[in-house]
Amino acid sequence: MNILVVGGAGYIGSHMVQWLDREGCQVTTLDNLCSGHREAVLAGRFVQGDIADSGLLSSLFASTRFDAVMHFASFIQVGESVAQPGMYYRNNVAHTLNLLEAMRAADVRRFIFSSTAATFGEPVYTPIDEAHPQRPINPYGRSKWMVEQMLTDMDTAWGLKSVSLRYFNAAGADPSGRLGERHDPETHLIPLVLQAARGRRPHISVFGRDYDTPDGTCVRDYIHIEDLCQAHWLALQHLMQEGASDAFNLGNGTGFSVQQVIDTAQRVTGRSIPVVNAPRRAGDPAVLVADGRRARENLGWVPAYPDLQTIIAHAWAWEQGRA
Ligand code: UDP
Repeated sequence: MNILVVGGAGYIGSHMVQWLDREGCQVTTLDNLCSGHREAVLAGRFVQGDIADSGLLSSLFASTRFDAVMHFASFIQVGESVAQPGMYYRNNVAHTLNLLEAMRAADVRRFIFSSTAATFGEPVYTPIDEAHPQRPINPYGRSKWMVEQMLTDMDTAWGLKSVSLRYFNAAGADPSGRLGERHDPETHLIPLVLQAARGRRPHISVFGRDYDTPDGTCVRDYIHIEDLCQAHWLALQHLMQEGASDAFNLGNGTGFSVQQVIDTAQRVTGRSIPVVNAPRRAGDPAVLVADGRRARENLGWVPAYPDLQTIIAHAWAWEQGRA
């Protein structure tokens, strides 16, 4: 199979490129390197470029007959999206539209999209299944929800078959230690906690201890990066077998609080991690946990690393190997 991975130099995309290569696919990564890392692309062909560039897209699609496109390239920071919505709608929506139009022109009809739990907004019930209302509460979540809706319309209009995968909290690292999470700036809890364990940061700030949760801190559903890759791989099989367009929530169905993450990280690292209490972060729901049963039932997805301790241990191995 010939797969185009847009955003293949980023955290999730780079793990996916490695996975596809291991499965024997021909992989092309297209990434503008605005946040990704060239050296994280461990296999296949690399093209530096932007999906805003229609000329580049048409020559790429003319030169290679892709069986499918996986799209990981987007801006992902909620706070930034509130401050600069135009940037999010341009990058995450308009540029994705550009990519989809180029696919239509080249008659490439399979698309796997990185969506997010943020498309659901404030949970009405938990765990969140696919029937839960999608009412995003910030421009980041709205940008992803708009793309999901565009995909439905494009299926109706020209037969684009897509799978949207709504990640809950992506975490962990390649178990072989070759890849891991490298955001700049880093905003995600697990890498920040591990950097504090390593002495790279003075402490970890806990954003709010007054939530309506057992220990007062926010509860999230952490899902191993390799398990996300497995879900993409299964979604690709689904589309290759002429499966219908669909959307799945990806999580383990088990929530862990911020305090539980810190306690687990202390056990895994054997280090004591300084903690500072901080105010709530705007837009954080108290609990976000996925009901991932549909992906298990329809795609045959069985997460290999559902245990928080393993997720943190892999992230810690990666963190320690970093300069
Ligand atoms: N969080 C925290 N301190 C930090 C970073 C995150 O307490 O320095 C909390 C955050 O409020 C949320 C959880 O950790 O409840 C996970 O946040 P993250 O940014 O990793 O992912 P999100 O849930 O926003 O996708």
